[in-house]
Amino acid sequence: MTDILIKRLCIIGVGLIGGSFARALRRAGVVDEIVGSGRDAEHLAEAVRLGVIDRFDTDPAVAVQAADMVVLAVPMGAMQSVLAQIKQHLSPDCMITDVGSVKGPLVTAAEAVFGRLPANFVPGHPIAGTEKSGVAASFAELFDGRRVILTPTPQSDPKIVERIRTVWQACGANVISMGVRHHDEVLAATSHLPHMLAYALVDTLARMDDSREIFTYAAGGFRDFTRIASSDPRMWHDICLANQDALLDVMQRFRDDLQLLIDAIANGDSEFIRQTFTRAKQARDAFADSI
Ligand code: NAP
Repeated sequence: MTDILIKRLCIIGVGLIGGSFARALRRAGVVDEIVGSGRDAEHLAEAVRLGVIDRFDTDPAVAVQAADMVVLAVPMGAMQSVLAQIKQHLSPDCMITDVGSVKGPLVTAAEAVFGRLPANFVPGHPIAGTEKSGVAASFAELFDGRRVILTPTPQSDPKIVERIRTVWQACGANVISMGVRHHDEVLAATSHLPHMLAYALVDTLARMDDSREIFTYAAGGFRDFTRIASSDPRMWHDICLANQDALLDVMQRFRDDLQLLIDAIANGDSEFIRQTFTRAKQARDAFADSI
């Protein structure tokens, strides 16, 4: 028989990630009851119809009552206001975590709301997702074999960190821990920069006079490179502003390297071009072999 890890789980933001988290825990049979919250009652009613949550309340202060775990799965820009709304209504021993893509501003928001970071607060970030949004796009297998990064604060109780790790493992994830700042720097390079490049590339091409012809003849490479430009603009607006410093650092570095490539093409510098492409191919092949 499977052990119940959570009696009442409250998910605020039952979309792609929050909904997948609920489905994965149901699949594992480790949660008794799941309560959802969000702004739109229709979205939450759909989550009940899909069997993702048991019931909901659009007021997060009501939804969190008597929960032993609360997960914030709303866009980054909504995290602080949700924390402020639930603060007075959490059970004293309730574990609090989140799935937000940037950790620094979340910790700052929690400090602003709680005064001192609670011992039962452990920020987290699943390195898994798709370009789709909403509960209808959620699925139980999303976290299978994927990494989840926990970024415990100095105040986080190690026992709570372990319990949250166990919950994510029940979702099928491999859990690692790292510092908040390091997380934001790494994700700026590996996730946030590629999204900025995909959005910028598609937008540039879409605004060209012959854009219809360009998209007509675009093939697999274009599709692969640009898939993530279909991601939710509101979510990525929040992420790029939340991780402004780390993202600007890596974008400026990329801009410098792109300028070197522009110069090499302009000057017919075959050696530079060959070396750049060869290095990139080796790095991409090694990455592909490792996953
Ligand atoms: P999503 O599918 O759009 O879900 C977001 C949910 O939050 C929706 O159910 C929405 O419901 C609710 N919501 C939005 N604003 C709210 C507010 N002010 N108060 C309460 N609920 C609100 O987005 P997602 O992809 O699951 O992303 C959720 C979080 O996961 C984000 O912080 C994102 O950075 C992070 N994340 C995303 C990915 C990814 O690939 N998508 C990967 C890892 C982490 P209503 O519209 O009904 O309010």
